[in-house]
Amino acid sequence: MKPANSTMSALGTTVFEVMSALAREHKSVNLGQGFPDDKGPEEVRAAAAEYLLTGHNQYPPMMGIPELRQAVAEHARRFQGLDIDWQSEVLVTSGATEALGDCLFGLIEPGDEVVLIEPLYDSYLPMVRRAGGVPKLVRLEPPNWRLPREELAAAFGPKTKLILFNTPMNPCSKVFDEEELSFIAGLCLQHDVYAICDEVYEHIIFDDRRHISMMTLPGMRDRTVRIGSAGKSFSLTGWKVGYITAAPELMKPIAKTHQFMTFTTPPNLQWGAATGLRLNDGYFSTLAAEMQRKRDRLATALAEIGFDVLPAHGTYFVTTDFRPLGFNGTDEDFCRHITVEAGVTAVPVSAFYQSEGAPRYFARFCFCKDDSTLDSAIERLRAHFCS
Ligand code: PMP
Ligand code: GLN
Repeated sequence: MKPANSTMSALGTTVFEVMSALAREHKSVNLGQGFPDDKGPEEVRAAAAEYLLTGHNQYPPMMGIPELRQAVAEHARRFQGLDIDWQSEVLVTSGATEALGDCLFGLIEPGDEVVLIEPLYDSYLPMVRRAGGVPKLVRLEPPNWRLPREELAAAFGPKTKLILFNTPMNPCSKVFDEEELSFIAGLCLQHDVYAICDEVYEHIIFDDRRHISMMTLPGMRDRTVRIGSAGKSFSLTGWKVGYITAAPELMKPIAKTHQFMTFTTPPNLQWGAATGLRLNDGYFSTLAAEMQRKRDRLATALAEIGFDVLPAHGTYFVTTDFRPLGFNGTDEDFCRHITVEAGVTAVPVSAFYQSEGAPRYFARFCFCKDDSTLDSAIERLRAHFCS
C-alpha cells in the first residue's frame, strides 16, 4: 500500500480527545478539555430550536445567512469600532477550526514562512505544514509570557507570508496589550505580512482588560483576518459556528477554500449565533465576570493546595506549575497521575509546543465549570495532595 500523507499520518490524537477519554475511563472530574458546564443563553438555544422546526433546513448561502453576517458586522462595530461590510467581508464557518484551515489553505503558498507564537493551539502547526508553510516559532517565557521582541523581529523576513496568533491566548491566558500588538503590526507592515488573529476568547477577558483586535491598529485593517467563535462567546462549544472578518481581497481566497471544505454551516445554528451576537452588553460583561469569579475560585484553591498558579488574564484556563507539590515526572505523567489517582483531569501544557525544550512542568486546568464541579475537583486534589 502506498503511504498516506506524511504530515497527517505522523500526528498523534489531539490531547483534548486523549485526556477526555482518560477522564471518562477513570470517571474523573474533567478540567482538561475546555468546554463549559453552562448550557448557554436560553434565547440563543431557543432561536436555534425554533428555526430548526420552522425555518429553512436546506443549504444556506455559501458565505453564511445574511442575518448572522450582519450580526457579525454589528458586533465588530459595537465592541471594536470597526466598519465592516457584511456582504464582502464576513464569512461563516463550521467553527474557528475550519476558519483557521480556510485561512491557512487560502493564503499560504508552499514554501511561505509562517510566524507562530509558542505555546500554541494544537491545530495550528499541522495545518500550516499541510498547507506547505514553513513554521517560524517564537516562544513566550513563563511566568509573564512577554513578547520577546528581538526574536519576533528576527523571525520575520522576505519569505514571511503571515503571522498567526491568538489573543486572549490558550493555554497561557495571556492577553496581548496595545504595545505588543503595535509591535507586531509594525513588523507586518515592514515585511508586507498578513496577520491571522484567533480571537475566539475575545469576551473571556478579566480584571478590566479590554480585548483589542489587531484589525483596529493603524495600517492593519486590510491585512488582518479576525476569527471568532460562537462556541466560546455563547458557551456552546458543540455548535461549531465560527466567523471570519477580512477585507474583500483577502476574503476571496479564504471563501474559495471554505466552499470546498464545508461549503456551509447548519442554518439553525447560524440563526442562533446571530441572536447571540445581538444580545445586550450586559450579557457579555456578565460572561466575563462569571468566568473571572470561577478563575478566582479555582486559582485560589490550587494555590492553597500547593501549586504555583500563573496569572490568567483571559480564556477558560489557568496554568499551574506542579513542581512545588514534589512531583518529579513530566506534565504528561502528572496529568495521567491526577486523573487515575486523584480523580481530576488536566491537560499537559507541553502539548502546545512543537520544538525541543518545551517546559514539562505545567498542567492546564479549565475553570468554565459549575461551582459544584470546581469544588469537587478541588476537594479531590486536596485529599490527594494534602492528607
Ligand atoms: N482556537 C483556539 C485558541 C481555541 O481554544 C479553540 C477552542 N476549541 C479554537 C480555536 C476552535 O474553536 P471552534 O470550537 O469554534 O472550532
Ligand atoms: N479549545 C479547547 C481547549 O483548548 C478544546 C477544543 C478541542 O477539543 N478541539 O481545551
